[in-house]
Amino acid sequence: MNEAKEKAVVVFSGGQDSTTCLFWALEHFDEVETVTFDYQQRHRKEIETAAAIAEAQGVRHHLLDMSLLHQLAPNALTRDDIAVEHKEGELPSTFVPGRNLLFLSFATILARQIGAKHVVTGVCQTDFSGYPDCRDMFIKSLNVTLNLSMDDEFVLHTPLMWLDKKETWALADDLGVLETVREQTLTCYNGIPGDGCGECPACELRRRGLEQHLAAKEESR
Ligand SMILES: [Zn+2]
Repeated sequence: MNEAKEKAVVVFSGGQDSTTCLFWALEHFDEVETVTFDYQQRHRKEIETAAAIAEAQGVRHHLLDMSLLHQLAPNALTRDDIAVEHKEGELPSTFVPGRNLLFLSFATILARQIGAKHVVTGVCQTDFSGYPDCRDMFIKSLNVTLNLSMDDEFVLHTPLMWLDKKETWALADDLGVLETVREQTLTCYNGIPGDGCGECPACELRRRGLEQHLAAKEESR
């Protein structure tokens, strides 16, 4: 990192991944702010969780209204009557078309407004759940497009891009925030914070990763 004060915006949902990214950013940048998008997700709790974590870390939290996403494309994350499922060869019902395209574009516009050059997002190609807008190629392409659109030099950071869930827990552990991430974040599709309901796909993925990380840590002792 050079001498200049480096400022970053973290795209922040209050989940495990983006919270790990927040702590990663706090480690790497002088100044960090967070942005959460309100797209009428099923659980308002997600937004409250994000605001609470940001406040606890003393970072500024922006909330942007993206309800038009829900208006355009109701899906399993915004509607109670659509089940969370993933059929072979199809995009999962939790897929929100254009979500990362829009979120990262608005996060970068916000970054410009507050004098930040860095935008951090927890997207990840390794746990690629069939979301095309989580792929590294998409992020790199969007980074170029955003810079061309604003004649600027933003950098989109994706610290989790090549990590699996086990390695994401390991990163939180390395940053000294494993317990914080485990207790304070909300990943569960049923809106239960911390270790969650234990049964939905998000909880299952999260728990498996945590168990693998803790087992590997135990082994290396
Ligand atoms: Zn759950």
